Amino acid sequence: MPTGLSLLIAISVALASANAQEIAGIKTPPTLKAQLTPKALENTISSKNLLAHAEQFLSFSKLSNGNRAFGSKGHEATIRYVKKLLDRTGYYDVEFQAFTYPYSESTSQLTVDGQAVFTQAFTYAPGGDAVAPVGLVSNDGCLASDYPVLSGKIALIKRGNCDFGLKVAFAGGAGATGAIIYNNVETRPSGGTLAQPSRPEGPYVPTAFITAADGAQLIARVNNGEEFEVSIHAEAINEDRTTSNVIATTKQGDRNNVIAAGAHSDSVPAGPGLNDDGSGSMGILEVALNLAKFRGLKKRAEEFGLVGSEYYVEHLPEEERQKVALYLNFDMIASPNSGYFVFDGDGNATDIPGPPGSEVIETLYRSYFDSYNIHTGSAVFGGSSDYQPFVDAGIPSGGLMTGAGGLKTVEGVQWWGGDAGVAYDVCYHQACDNIENLRVDVWERNTKAIAYSVASFAKSIEGIPRTPRAPVRTLRVSKLSYEERLHLTCDHEDDRA
Ligand SMILES: [Zn+2]
Repeated sequence: MPTGLSLLIAISVALASANAQEIAGIKTPPTLKAQLTPKALENTISSKNLLAHAEQFLSFSKLSNGNRAFGSKGHEATIRYVKKLLDRTGYYDVEFQAFTYPYSESTSQLTVDGQAVFTQAFTYAPGGDAVAPVGLVSNDGCLASDYPVLSGKIALIKRGNCDFGLKVAFAGGAGATGAIIYNNVETRPSGGTLAQPSRPEGPYVPTAFITAADGAQLIARVNNGEEFEVSIHAEAINEDRTTSNVIATTKQGDRNNVIAAGAHSDSVPAGPGLNDDGSGSMGILEVALNLAKFRGLKKRAEEFGLVGSEYYVEHLPEEERQKVALYLNFDMIASPNSGYFVFDGDGNATDIPGPPGSEVIETLYRSYFDSYNIHTGSAVFGGSSDYQPFVDAGIPSGGLMTGAGGLKTVEGVQWWGGDAGVAYDVCYHQACDNIENLRVDVWERNTKAIAYSVASFAKSIEGIPRTPRAPVRTLRVSKLSYEERLHLTCDHEDDRA
């Protein structure tokens, strides 16, 4: 997902209370539906239905140049589809929550001596042309003092230790006409973001993001005293766009104890986003549709939504936040070179625990996969998906994911098969994130796990603290070095630094 934007589908299952029906103001009609149990809901999930949704999502992307980026026709069609299906069950109150968010789409080309050099663009970087000699930046460019006067030059900066946005702003502040950031690991850069439309440290300038090897070559030539110019050509659309969250709440039940689950409904502008995060969105949708077939929730309320989690949580009154018992996040659950990762609620594996109660969610998922003899790895609460606003609000959180741009280890291959040294999702944030990119058996298993967890927590949230919570700020992965992050994260890569 584009970091900072957090559209999600939320399912909320509220817990039983003695007077739930009175609270909801609805009389439960007589029903012949089957009784809800975790296994029963799990058993309703099939890959056939998931793939039928996938065909739809792909067709939506064709409405807007092959993507479902927020504010696009493809995204609009996505949320309307979800709303329509949920409305049809008669089980939920479904609402759109409109909000505005800065949209950015950018491309970048770099030429050196007339030769094209591989480069990626940064989200939120401006369009424009810069043709100039290269000026070197000291250290990792995280301090203004690392930047000499760069008037009439293009700054060359190493990746690492602080946000890309800070570096590009410092370069602009030092007078540079462009900024090139070179990678600090061997792999090709897979794109990045300046994270916000502007910063106080200086104006953004046209950017390029290149490999470590290409960066080293430029540095060597400058140090040799060679005189040469490089050229950046960047194109960008940066504008505010309006989009909507979809929030669906069960008509019946106690809304004082809500279980929320989320996935973001948009894709990056580069592609249709079938795995990122069509897989999580469709998984939750399918669970919600099947949940509506059961009884046993007559004393509970539930919600489904496509919402911007940041906007959603920020605009949730404090009183309402306290009603959210826990949050489940599903962002990329069908990666082609999959791992099975469970969010590290207790912080045992990553040193970054979720709010108290998150360990209960972790334990449930680990037991679930254990029961199928599936090994689980640990996903870190690193700040690069929709759980973060919930975590920051102190809401116990958890979830599943199958890996993004990080590379599968040899150990990972022993656990899950696949290819070592290859990204979990080679099509992460690319045009090829289409139906063929989905690992269907893993997707089905994870969706079954979602179903199992939703029904389990609907029955009981034993161990989840329900005392009033204070907002907390947890350590975010962007504060760690790149090497530390590589150890921790199979998560969405943190693409801000
Ligand atoms: Zn995502």
